Amino acid sequence: MTTSLASTIAAKRDDLIVLTQDLIRIPTLNPPGQDYRLICEYLDKRLSAHGFETQLIRAHGTPGDCTKYPRWNIIARREGRHAGDCVHFNSHTDVVEVGAGWTFDPFGAEISDGKIYGRGTCDMKGGLAASIIAAEAFIETHPDFAGAIEISGTADEESGGYGGVAYLAEHGYFDPARVQHVIIPEPLNKDRICLGHRGGWWAEIETKGEIAHGSMPFLGDCAVRHMGAVLTEFEDKLFPAMAARWTEMPVVPEGARQSTMNINSIHGGQKEQDDDFTGLPAHCVPDSCRIVIDRRFLVEEPLDQVRGEVTDLLEGLRESRADFDYELTELNSVLPSMTDKNAPVVQTVAKAIEDVMGKPPEYVASPGTYDQKHIDRIGKLKNCIAYGPGVLELAHKPDEWIGIDDMIDSAKVMGAALETLLMPQG
Ligand SMILES: [Zn+2]
Repeated sequence: MTTSLASTIAAKRDDLIVLTQDLIRIPTLNPPGQDYRLICEYLDKRLSAHGFETQLIRAHGTPGDCTKYPRWNIIARREGRHAGDCVHFNSHTDVVEVGAGWTFDPFGAEISDGKIYGRGTCDMKGGLAASIIAAEAFIETHPDFAGAIEISGTADEESGGYGGVAYLAEHGYFDPARVQHVIIPEPLNKDRICLGHRGGWWAEIETKGEIAHGSMPFLGDCAVRHMGAVLTEFEDKLFPAMAARWTEMPVVPEGARQSTMNINSIHGGQKEQDDDFTGLPAHCVPDSCRIVIDRRFLVEEPLDQVRGEVTDLLEGLRESRADFDYELTELNSVLPSMTDKNAPVVQTVAKAIEDVMGKPPEYVASPGTYDQKHIDRIGKLKNCIAYGPGVLELAHKPDEWIGIDDMIDSAKVMGAALETLLMPQG
């Protein structure tokens, strides 16, 4: 990168700190999805002052959108002086609940030992702030740049992104004719490039029984025992089969380089009573038992196969087990996304990391999904990565923090990438 850009970014250190602190102090908790309008207005003011054209977009009618908690998003665009590609930095503005165990004020943005503490520092307001500083410093250093820079702040990533990136993609904002390179500054560590993520399939399985007196269970049909048979099939067949599959995707941590399934919840029989209930349960055979499964799958596994191996086990039980009946309800699915290592944005950011950090990047993929899925599947834009400061393991934890030096380093990487993509040749 040019030394002038590197020094412009370094000189913006105080600005970066204040920007990050301001963002943290807007408690955009999701759920319920509060203060989205406020953070969009803050970003609007900031980016308009730096010559960006801004649009505030409400994702009307998406999950959670209501008068009290409207799903607001912002897209800011700054045109260059010549024709060229558009580089888009997308950050989600929502943060997860605070949880217990904090020693810092979760929305105080206190600084200690070179770190800023607070909910959303690492995931991902630190990344958002770094991308803003990178873009502003780049524009200042190279006012003659070609193409365009976009910065978006989007809602609801932590709950699936339907009121955020999915909505924007459906409305053409990630059309490859409009945007050519996307960098999502999620906290994947400043020297790693995240190429994509595994898929997810969520379903509820209900086994059916028949209610009867608990003293004469033979007159009814116990739905919990049927569910026990389902779980035994999972233990004996599905889990070993999944554990044997290994992916080419560089998923971190290592344990997520295979197919996994979590049994998210189980419930059978009588409804749980309130804590202050002091009575005893009535004697009944349960007529229903439900589980929710969370199946994460690999780029090598088609969704039909993922779905099929669960339904095959259930259909098998229908054949082999007397009175077995079930219902499967799909709750949601997300396909895996994996950007080609040779894609221009990957190559560019790899070179920028090498340039700034003095060593080649590590390539990773994420065990869980993030907004890349919508940019890929709805937007049909394949040239997308996650790259940003912050330690992945700190996301959603108490005393979450972002290192100020890490933000500066990754802002330099982002700035160097802009130089490669948006500087007129020669
Ligand atoms: Zn995130």
